[in-house]
Amino acid sequence: MKTEHISGYFDYNATTPISDEVAKSMISAIGQFANPSSSNNYSQLAKTVVSHARENVAKLLNVKAPNIFFTSGGTEANNWAIKGVLSKHSDQPGHIITSAIEHASVHDPIKYCIQQLGYEVTYLKPDSSGAINVADLKGAIRANTQLISVMYANNETGVIQPISAIAKIAHEHSIPMHVDAVQLVGKQHLDVTALNVDYLSLSAHKFYGPKGIGCLYIKDISSIDPLIHGGGQESAMRSGTENVMAIAGLSKAAEEAQQAIEQWNKEYWSYKQHMIALLNAAPIKVKFNGATNYIDALPNTLNITIEGIRAEALAARMEMLHHTIISIGSACSNNKTKKASHVLTAMGLNEVDIQASIRVSFGRFTSLSAIEMFVQALVAETQVLLSISESGICKSN
Ligand code: PLP
Repeated sequence: MKTEHISGYFDYNATTPISDEVAKSMISAIGQFANPSSSNNYSQLAKTVVSHARENVAKLLNVKAPNIFFTSGGTEANNWAIKGVLSKHSDQPGHIITSAIEHASVHDPIKYCIQQLGYEVTYLKPDSSGAINVADLKGAIRANTQLISVMYANNETGVIQPISAIAKIAHEHSIPMHVDAVQLVGKQHLDVTALNVDYLSLSAHKFYGPKGIGCLYIKDISSIDPLIHGGGQESAMRSGTENVMAIAGLSKAAEEAQQAIEQWNKEYWSYKQHMIALLNAAPIKVKFNGATNYIDALPNTLNITIEGIRAEALAARMEMLHHTIISIGSACSNNKTKKASHVLTAMGLNEVDIQASIRVSFGRFTSLSAIEMFVQALVAETQVLLSISESGICKSN
């Protein structure tokens, strides 16, 4: 990966570039053409790729390899956890607890369970720091609560949720707990055994692996229905011939993250601090949405309201004039009719501030000089937009 080619890319939470090592491992896996589920000599090599990958992902999460089930990504893992657990109770649909700031791949299957299967749901609202309150969760538990699903780190603000405390409460009440950890994996060390959650989703393309591959960690397979029935792959939980090349890519991405996560984390945090300092010193008015400290938020993410601008116009100018990519709301919701960010809305921001908000996320191919060029461009384009809107007001007067 030539760093200078992507120095203007500030949308790592949408997806990350594939690392050179990941690409190499995928190219080498193309040669393993045999079906990993067959029993001939050729299939042994492909089978080894898949089992080695399961070990690597398990090591990254500190869990046992047989508890890792490959999926086509985070969306599929989230759908499986929710529908797979709730379909166990389909004769007696009860109650689900989730947050108001989840990704659509959690909100939409829950909506399906409400509309089609008769479940009820409580959506926990975050405070202005972007985190949900553990006492609110405790208060929401009912005798018939059958699932708690809360994300680890929010994709728009980077705010980390109190998952360990929530998991403890869930288990005190014998309620299964699912965590969408798609945005946390590869950015921060994670010990899923210590966390003691029942289900956890991840996606390779958020940490330098390929798109279209992820996994669901399942603590106890008897607690969840299989996702896809068929040839019996993935311990008959998710049938279908394995995508060996993508699995090889996920494997290498997990191995690289395992080795370098502390260094990446430190680097991201130093860039984030630098960006915050530069923006605070700049002659524009900015406000950071949600917690920005090291403990409570991802070290690579900032959600920023810039007073007086339209984020859409700013993003367009940054891309056209500076080849710089930022996000206005979550990339994964951009296929749908544009609505104000549900995350910022739930945090209590008003419509004007939401329309003036951008998400900046960076990663391992970002450099300190790229951060400085980014802030320079952002400040210059903000000033241009402010002067255009001021001259517009003068004319109409
Ligand atoms: N969960 C979160 C928090 C995400 O940010 C995303 C993607 O942006 C997903 C789930 C979906 O993952 P995938 O793109 O692998 O389907």
